[in-house]
Amino acid sequence: MSPRRSRSARTPSAPAALGSLTQPGALVGVACRVCGSSRVTRLAMTLTDGTPVEFTSCHRCEHRSWVGDGRSLGRAEVLDRTRKLT
Ligand SMILES: [Zn+2]
Repeated sequence: MSPRRSRSARTPSAPAALGSLTQPGALVGVACRVCGSSRVTRLAMTLTDGTPVEFTSCHRCEHRSWVGDGRSLGRAEVLDRTRKLT
């Protein structure tokens, strides 16, 4: 007897509602916030203090941004978190 595996009726997660665009895995529609170019590189990395962030770099205007904890981090903040606290 082979058990029938019906696809679970789990509804696919709805696209992120407007206003919460920082959901993990939402890689569609990545665009530069400054010039709107889609030629951006997005890297996931972890800062020294353990904060997971996403680094986005634009090939067009070279704007760079970090997003962590569900919000964008300033450059100074990233540097601060990268510093090793001993
Ligand atoms: Zn740009």
